[in-house]
Amino acid sequence: LDSQRIEFQRKPVDLGELFRRLAVEYAPMAEAKELRLSFAPTSAVVESDPTFLRRIAQNLVSNAIKYTDRGGVLVGVRKRGERAWLEIYDTGIGIAATDRARVFDEFQRIGREGGAPGMGLGLSIVRRACAKLGHPIAMDSEPGRGTVFRVSLPLVAPGGEATRPEGAGQGPHLRGRVALV
Ligand code: ATP
Ligand code: MG
Repeated sequence: LDSQRIEFQRKPVDLGELFRRLAVEYAPMAEAKELRLSFAPTSAVVESDPTFLRRIAQNLVSNAIKYTDRGGVLVGVRKRGERAWLEIYDTGIGIAATDRARVFDEFQRIGREGGAPGMGLGLSIVRRACAKLGHPIAMDSEPGRGTVFRVSLPLVAPGGEATRPEGAGQGPHLRGRVALV
């Protein structure tokens, strides 16, 4: 039998299109918890692997919903020169500074999840996929107020409008601190 190592692709990925798919996919999960789930409209096109980028976003959006009990989840894009941050904000339980380094480890959970099931694998997969793709990932959080995960992506056509998640100011107050993981 042939074994095959997965090749990571480098293709234009339309983030607006990705957002539309995620909105449909995760609306039921958010509705079940009475959370608002919003995606900022964007025309950003980035260079990535469509399958892996979608899987990264799925993990971050599903975590955001899973670890949030009131308020909601906001997803947007912030352009910065040649790159764009894909940003996932939530108003959830947050991650303590002392747990910051551990959440990306495999089979690692924090233990304040309030019964939400999981294997502690999602973020370890996100970290490894981002490393393979050369996408820096950052996380910032205020326990009890919320968390933001950011993935830095190369823009295909830099310039144009900068979009922010609508109502991001109502979300966690993060003062722009970014901790690269
Ligand atoms: P799996 O993703 O394998 O179903 P999981 O969600 O527990 O399980 P990860 O996605 O790797 O695993 O996350 C690891 C831990 O980090 C979680 O158990 C949770 O404690 C914490 N965590 C992840 N995302 C958030 C978030 N948005 N807000 C608060 N805590 C989070
Ligand atoms: Mg998870």
